[in-house]
Amino acid sequence: MMKSRVGIGWDVHPLVDGRPFVLAGVVLDPTRGPAGHSDGDPLAHAVVDALLGAAALGDIGMHFPDDDPRWKGAPGVDLLERTVAILAAMGWAPLQVDAVVICDRPKLAPFREEVRNGLAGALGVPLSAVNVKGKRSEGLGGLAGAAGVECHAVAMIGVLDNRESDR
Ligand code: MG
Repeated sequence: MMKSRVGIGWDVHPLVDGRPFVLAGVVLDPTRGPAGHSDGDPLAHAVVDALLGAAALGDIGMHFPDDDPRWKGAPGVDLLERTVAILAAMGWAPLQVDAVVICDRPKLAPFREEVRNGLAGALGVPLSAVNVKGKRSEGLGGLAGAAGVECHAVAMIGVLDNRESDR
């Protein structure tokens, strides 16, 4: 049986005017989006944490510190691809990702397939291995509500070369 691991990731960003709203590299709204040191792509960041979690390699802040100028404005998809490379060096490869995007605006639905494609491309997995769900806060506010965007992700990874090892 193929050795596999799962990890969970979460991210939240406040929304501000004058920033693009980017999910997995796809611009949903060029005028109002997540604030952040990098491009504030909360879906990419949540998936990075899920992948790192699955490999027991800590979290996004350990690998891409937000006080490091190298990562200022860094696209989330770029961090995602770097994370896949970090995992590959340890003998792991992404197998599957499922994610939830909680946000009142913009709506995910018109962009869902493009966002799935963006994730699958960065992860190097087939489209059938990536799912993204859009949810609204239904007026309850909460952590994100209308003022922000929140993402949850679960990732499964497997042994890259399919050989069993003692990792
Ligand atoms: Mg983030």
